[in-house]
Amino acid sequence: MFPVWFLVLEIWSFKFHLVLPPQSFSHQLSPRCRSPVSTDSLNSELRDELRRLSEQGLLRSRREVIPLPGGQCRLNGQTLWNFASNDYLGLADDPRLKQAAIDAIQVSGIGARASPLVTGRTDWHARLESAISRFKQTESAILFPTGFAANLGTIGALAGPDDIVICDRLNHASLIDGIRQTRARLRVIPHGDVTACRQQLQQATGTRRRLIVTDSVFSMDGDHAPLRELHDCAEEFDAILIVDDAHATGVFGDRGTGLLEVAGISASQRVISIGTLSKAIGLQGGFVAGSSVLINWLWNSARTQVYSTALSIPVCAAAVTAFELITAEPERRHWLRETSSQVIAGLRQSGWHVPDPARGPILPVLVGDAALTMQLASALEERGILVAAIRPPTVPAGTARLRVSLCVSHGQEGIAALLDAFQAVRATQQ
Ligand code: PMP
Repeated sequence: MFPVWFLVLEIWSFKFHLVLPPQSFSHQLSPRCRSPVSTDSLNSELRDELRRLSEQGLLRSRREVIPLPGGQCRLNGQTLWNFASNDYLGLADDPRLKQAAIDAIQVSGIGARASPLVTGRTDWHARLESAISRFKQTESAILFPTGFAANLGTIGALAGPDDIVICDRLNHASLIDGIRQTRARLRVIPHGDVTACRQQLQQATGTRRRLIVTDSVFSMDGDHAPLRELHDCAEEFDAILIVDDAHATGVFGDRGTGLLEVAGISASQRVISIGTLSKAIGLQGGFVAGSSVLINWLWNSARTQVYSTALSIPVCAAAVTAFELITAEPERRHWLRETSSQVIAGLRQSGWHVPDPARGPILPVLVGDAALTMQLASALEERGILVAAIRPPTVPAGTARLRVSLCVSHGQEGIAALLDAFQAVRATQQ
């Protein structure tokens, strides 16, 4: 436990660290809006920008979804198969997770009541940290409020202006924002291009640290990073490999621990594994698994962890149960992998373009045009299927797509409904 004087000192010093505000992977305001704007005219300028997005078919609108059991949901009075969730293993609604959460609430209440270093880290949090480090086979683990915060906080704690960070072009926004805040030399490489990574490291002279940062499963394409080759590269150039295993944890690997396991890379000082509880675990929150030294450093320097309230107690309790189930019930991830091949084949058969590298529960159906993508998503919705319509700036211009996310709860009934609806919509396109 840290003495009180240490906490006061740390909090004081953190408050005075200068960091660039994290920028998101968001729309750029048009040049007109970069000049100083009075508050009076702000609303009218924002209205113009929103109109511009609408004209480009890029306006986002919010809706209210009512989750239902069995991989379904209700939206605007209609019951739909929900192929737009990240609950790959169907754990968000599992009775055993629900019971674990309820039991924990009965004992300790709901909120953590403070940030972790003050009094927010309870015995529930400690149990979850141990469950994660056992599962990921690392010495230690640390929790974050979200996966986004885990990426932001971890990169912020490890890199600075004297460092170089190699970043895959399709990395998640949280990794990109995490790198930007550090003022490290950012080198964006083409997607999955190990040669470009090697070239950048060869040219990196006079740097303190070299970091290679990558998603393991890319969230908009469902394809996999070349982790083995990136790891070799990290060894050759004495670099650190940071892997966001968000979409792989619980899904890939014999033990279900993710793509580092598949690549045969065990935790070491060179490899940092970041994850989230918000995908296959069915909950919310982020984590980092690694060596004790690394985790102690993050306890002392990851701002998104130190200055944010600890995860809620029912989430911690349910997550411990989720990791037990992932170990005990491998058939869930086996179903996902087998069904993914079946769905890819079915979609291609009815004429849809599913790119080759896709495998696992995230399946992109490439459309190209953003407005057409929205129309197709509505047509599928009319046929009882909810998929995510993904447009720029989340993906590069001209690569708008429908993203199908599989969940064990869909069962064969849901998969048949999905393939039928895609086939029917395709027929209307020809
Ligand atoms: N990394 C990746 C690859 C993601 O897809 C996401 C979520 N979209 C995150 C991190 C952020 O995780 P969370 O939702 O837990 O903040």
